[in-house]
Amino acid sequence: MSIWRAIMKKPRTAVRSCRQKQASGHEGREKQVLSSSQVKPSTPDGLARRQKEVVLRASVSPYHLFRDTAEVTVFRENLLSWYDREKRDLPWRRRAEGEVDPDRRAYAEVANAAGPGQCIPGGGEPALGWPGLLFSRPAAAGGSPEDQADFWIPLCQATGVVDGNVVRVLCRVRAIGADSGSTFVSQQLWSLAQQLVDPARPGDFNQAAMELGATVCTPQHPRCSQCPVQSMCRAHQRVEREQLVASQSLPGSPDVEECAPSAGQCQLCAPPTEPWDQTLGVANFPRKASRRPPREECSATCVLEQPRALGGARILLVQRPKSGLLAGLWEFPSVTVEPSGQCQREALLRELQSWAGPLPATHLQHLGQVVHTFSHIKLTYQVYGLALEGQIPVTITPPGARWLTREEFHAAAVSTAMKKVFRVYEGQRPGTCKGSKRSQVSAPSTQRKPSPGQQVLDSFFRPHHPTDVSSLNSMAQ
Ligand code: SF4
Ligand code: ZN
Repeated sequence: MSIWRAIMKKPRTAVRSCRQKQASGHEGREKQVLSSSQVKPSTPDGLARRQKEVVLRASVSPYHLFRDTAEVTVFRENLLSWYDREKRDLPWRRRAEGEVDPDRRAYAEVANAAGPGQCIPGGGEPALGWPGLLFSRPAAAGGSPEDQADFWIPLCQATGVVDGNVVRVLCRVRAIGADSGSTFVSQQLWSLAQQLVDPARPGDFNQAAMELGATVCTPQHPRCSQCPVQSMCRAHQRVEREQLVASQSLPGSPDVEECAPSAGQCQLCAPPTEPWDQTLGVANFPRKASRRPPREECSATCVLEQPRALGGARILLVQRPKSGLLAGLWEFPSVTVEPSGQCQREALLRELQSWAGPLPATHLQHLGQVVHTFSHIKLTYQVYGLALEGQIPVTITPPGARWLTREEFHAAAVSTAMKKVFRVYEGQRPGTCKGSKRSQVSAPSTQRKPSPGQQVLDSFFRPHHPTDVSSLNSMAQ
């Protein structure tokens, strides 16, 4: 693909044209860092555009921006010193490096990288050049592509470039999870690129950003440990936080900066329908609007409660495997089942027993269902509840399981789906208002006659119905 085609179309409101900049005799570039807009309202059109930009930026949390010029400076320095050490020996770079004049050097890069004739549809219009300059080619210019390079006119210097690699780097560095193909996100990315580009070395900076995306911050297997901007990468910080939450901090969550929009839903975060996918890591960013419908899966899950445990009622949570969907998160004991519902009670009972020992199968009640959509899976939870009667002191639990009080559960790092499941359980407990709106209870499916397997299980459990806690806990150890 032509380099010129690969460079993303710049949204009209993202960056003002250099002609505008020159005409307005504006303040220096450094002052643009963290400014709310790069467009001066010199005309009614400009005013409307600026007002629109202010409204758009008002909905962006500072979490997705660079805090101050010091942070921007560190980013530039880290990226450029890495680039100076690591850049690949590409043919157009060799030719460009022979040029002493930085402008001619930029032209050489353009001529060798793509050929100037490819990049400006309709001669005479300003277009974004490869190394970070804006160019215009007079429509009358002719000759070979390399000759044409001499006719290119630089309109101004130091323009940040956004191509596919830079989209990926910026979305990760600033944890932008909203659809990267949307106009709004595109505007923010151009604005970020413009803030970051080094006015002293714009061409090198833009190539460095592209190089980082091509060689380190790659789509599938980013090498974060070798990344020069890792210390300021929010995607990397987010991965570390999620791992900490999954592995240690139940209940509670670590004190790491998160997006906190002043009002409503942040326009640069992923929508709530597309929560964090543990399996993707930093590759949760960037995110394209999903085109394929999510895969459908079904799971049976059970809130297992000891209502009269010492110190108050407790519910069982277990930790998911270290890989796969929601890796390492805590949940009610669950099993993946056929959507048809075949054998789900039996499978769920086996799972419960593996954590808590023999249980009174007849007490296992189907309460309703919860549908939760992850990034690529639509998961229907069949919600069951089982309350163990009797005074059951909670002592030792098997590794990967915990009995929590309600307060601990609500403070714990459990998924939104599990919170929904618990609301169904709470809505169906004896003595509560069944079917309240808040609990999002779906009516239980028609009570099925116990299958032969179920009857066997029931009869197996009946004689062993625990009357005190020791049976449960001794078997659970
Ligand atoms: Fe990309 Fe990782 Fe570097 Fe962040 S730390 S910019 S995700 S390579
Ligand atoms: Zn956000």
